[in-house]
Amino acid sequence: MRRPNPYSGLVDGLSAGELELLHDAVAERRLREEAGFGTLAEAAELYRPRPACPSCGEEAPWRDGLAPSGAQRWRCPSCGARFTPLAGTVLENCKKPLATWVDFIRLTAFAVPLGACAEMCRISHQTAREWRHRLFAAVDGCQDRIVLRGRVWIDETYVNDTDLSHGYGQARKRGLSRQKICVAVGIDARKEPVAVVCGHGKPSSARIRKAVKAHVAEGSTLVHDRERAHNALVRENSLEDESYKADVRDPAYLEAMALVNNLCSWIKRYLWRFTGMDPANLQSYLNLYVYLFRVKRDDERWPGIARVVRHLLMTGARFRSST
Ligand SMILES: [Zn+2]
Repeated sequence: MRRPNPYSGLVDGLSAGELELLHDAVAERRLREEAGFGTLAEAAELYRPRPACPSCGEEAPWRDGLAPSGAQRWRCPSCGARFTPLAGTVLENCKKPLATWVDFIRLTAFAVPLGACAEMCRISHQTAREWRHRLFAAVDGCQDRIVLRGRVWIDETYVNDTDLSHGYGQARKRGLSRQKICVAVGIDARKEPVAVVCGHGKPSSARIRKAVKAHVAEGSTLVHDRERAHNALVRENSLEDESYKADVRDPAYLEAMALVNNLCSWIKRYLWRFTGMDPANLQSYLNLYVYLFRVKRDDERWPGIARVVRHLLMTGARFRSST
């Protein structure tokens, strides 16, 4: 027989407000054990021990007492600005506990739809929306420095504008390739991924070049289907060309292209979870996918939650309200 939980009686006796406080304290303690910090103040102390002045860039601010939350406050000796360690990050003005943010990030990493995120984190739908855009701002540009090298696979995948905004299978016009958004997808043998929106319809050489050129190191081996639009890329980046005729009944093609084909189908599946999105945000969703893909890939040597929180605190980015 299970022993009764000695805390049940204690918890039953708490008021609703006290129960909330207990919940927050437990979440904070759990996070501290997992990641080495339990609150925004503790994480800021670790990753922003001496934040630069957000107004003038002065790098040696003065300590200016503690905020009620326990966070260090700072004052700029040059321009006199007072600021918190979160100023200039996407967590600025965040009123919820860090543990709630961490829950939200965890759910986002599993591509959980926004409504479910809001319910699980016990935040409003509007807040969940805003947090997603805060994450977008923090990962904007995260693909800029990704360069694939060695053996590099590339392919294109297509999504319908209307699949994204109205739901898969609804309000869709047939056979209009101009209606499809092309996403150029690449991956190398180290599982370094890129996914870049590449205009509407089947891409030209120029569009492929614009989307992918900076992401493929010169001298790499490009493994691809025999799409002609790839040729200019092969030439300009002096790539070894290894191509297979696209044929889903050909085991040699399937095996050779499995890595990139799989990535394409994961990306499609991921995007379908967010039907109702504004197609204008597609690149942001792809940036977030690539960012989280890399976090998961490296999870064993670099625990994901600590890495994401560190990124949010060390990346100068501002959330722009788009609604
Ligand atoms: Zn200043």
